[in-house]
Amino acid sequence: MKEFDATVVSADGAKLVLDQTAFNPRGGGLVSDLGTINGINLAEALKEGEEIVHLMASPSNLKAGDFVRGVLDWERRFRIMRMHTAAHILSAVVNLETGALITGNQIAPNESRVDLSLEEFDREKLADYIEEVNDVVRRGVNVKTFFMKREEALATPGFVKLAGAMPPSVEMLRIVQIGDVDTQADGGVHVKNTKEIGKVTGLKTENKGKNNRRLYFTVD
Ligand SMILES: [Zn+2]
Repeated sequence: MKEFDATVVSADGAKLVLDQTAFNPRGGGLVSDLGTINGINLAEALKEGEEIVHLMASPSNLKAGDFVRGVLDWERRFRIMRMHTAAHILSAVVNLETGALITGNQIAPNESRVDLSLEEFDREKLADYIEEVNDVVRRGVNVKTFFMKREEALATPGFVKLAGAMPPSVEMLRIVQIGDVDTQADGGVHVKNTKEIGKVTGLKTENKGKNNRRLYFTVD
């Protein structure tokens, strides 16, 4: 969804809460969507408790009950989606080859990274794994999302890979399944088919301490 209509629930200076939104807030390693609400630039969408707060670049005269139109910076959002699905595939490939788990990630439009619990990793290995990722991209694998009960998801091997990331208060988990490549509980934005990713390029690896390697990549 690139554009949407909504009603203002509350307005407090530059902070806006809407009855519905298509702006994906910062979280889960993903940077916030950007765009405009009634022509005013969005500085960042943030999660505050159960609410999504739109922090606007400047205060508006909007008040509760006003109708607004939100427009996403789609170029940015689509890059975030492509980067995010690529990160899942990369993690799955490295996990399959080494057993490493994800310990963190940062998904941004221009350069993204995943942290993996690995003792050794070099540029050559990164190139091999990126090639495997691009095989998946070229295969055109469909990406499905569905909801599953928390206990059921936790009992299914591989569904919850980011250790400790799921708050116990969440009863239904959203599952993102990239065909036969990767399935995990995840709240972020993804492409519908891996072909949309384009081409993944490995940029560099960094040693972030014992048993932690950081892999940088981008999509073209
Ligand atoms: Zn994810």
